[in-house]
Amino acid sequence: MADLDELYQEVIFDHSKKPRNCRKLEHPTCDAGGHNPLCGDRIHVYLELDGETIKDVAFEGKGCAISTASASMMTAAVKGKTRAEARALASDFVGMVTDAPAAAELSERLGKLNVFSGVKKFPVRVKCASLAWRTLEAALDERQTEVSTE
Ligand code: ZN
Repeated sequence: MADLDELYQEVIFDHSKKPRNCRKLEHPTCDAGGHNPLCGDRIHVYLELDGETIKDVAFEGKGCAISTASASMMTAAVKGKTRAEARALASDFVGMVTDAPAAAELSERLGKLNVFSGVKKFPVRVKCASLAWRTLEAALDERQTEVSTE
């Protein structure tokens, strides 16, 4: 298992150092902000929808390595998906990091996102990892208030 952990850490490290889709969309269809007061992570998620499909997605933020890597991988995972698929993925992801009973069945659907499964052992980190996904849900819901993990 040590090798697997190392691989996971490498993926997270890579995404935290070189986050994908880290920019602002000038004309987003919807967007939302999120905050994790426990760690100080802040994120803003922008979505450009074409009907029900997420045509483009980007984020801006300041946070720890886990929150940045999670946001980066979230954008890569939901680009080109429908709203419904993105919501399902968000709920799978949050289920995985909070160790929900059905988490084992989710792991296949989550694919690469499984690199975050190790955070469930660290409650503080669960909030860092799930912030991007909770903010994505808020953007999809077109909620106007900022998401807080508290
Ligand atoms: Zn954090």
